[in-house]
Amino acid sequence: DNLIIAIDGYSSSGKSTMARRLAKAIGYRYIDSGAMYRAVTLYAMQHGFIAADGSIDKAALVSALPEIKIDFKVTPDGQRTQLNGKDVEDEIRTLEVSAHVSPIATIAEVRRALVKMQRDMGESKGIVMDGRDIGTMVFPQAELKIFCDASAEKRAERRFKELTEKGQSITYEEVLANVVSRDHIDETRDESPLRCADDAVRLDNSEMTLEEQDRWLLDLFRR
Ligand code: C5P
Repeated sequence: DNLIIAIDGYSSSGKSTMARRLAKAIGYRYIDSGAMYRAVTLYAMQHGFIAADGSIDKAALVSALPEIKIDFKVTPDGQRTQLNGKDVEDEIRTLEVSAHVSPIATIAEVRRALVKMQRDMGESKGIVMDGRDIGTMVFPQAELKIFCDASAEKRAERRFKELTEKGQSITYEEVLANVVSRDHIDETRDESPLRCADDAVRLDNSEMTLEEQDRWLLDLFRR
């Protein structure tokens, strides 16, 4: 089996947990496309392409794109994002990266480069990829598409719990503001904005437990 499953939706809607668990259950490869936008953002931060006021040196970033290599290393604790051979999995999850990633993701050249990498990753075997434009842009031919949503408060609550468990010192309000701001940028950008594909199955998982969500997904997959 080498089907493509696309899981899109709003920030922190539980897409990646869902995609990871489904991939594991059916023996597919999981690919986190958001981690790729985050890795490009980290690269831009490290190279001084993002000024203190948040403005981006777009020309510098675009010309550096060929230097950016992104990989996922499979470890017993799950996949870890590698940027030019260095493990950046923890660094890309900080609120600082979250604050800059959506503006970076509006840059057409960045999207083009990452979409190409994502399509290449989908060549080999069955994959589950999560993101914002997987079902609409990266793999419009995906056999199964899911679009996830939940209230912004519920999503921020989950994200806040996840980040504080990892030891980041942030407030719930900061997380909520970031989630709302990223959604807005993602929905209103020109280049493949976040939207539900016409043939996607919608899921609002606000009130679902992980187990209920797993069962829902597997039922859908087996149909
Ligand atoms: O999935 P995650 O929340 O980690 O993604 C980080 C950001 O990357 C999103 O807020 C969005 O701006 C961008 N993104 C995107 N297209 C994707 C995946 C992520 O624009 N396919």
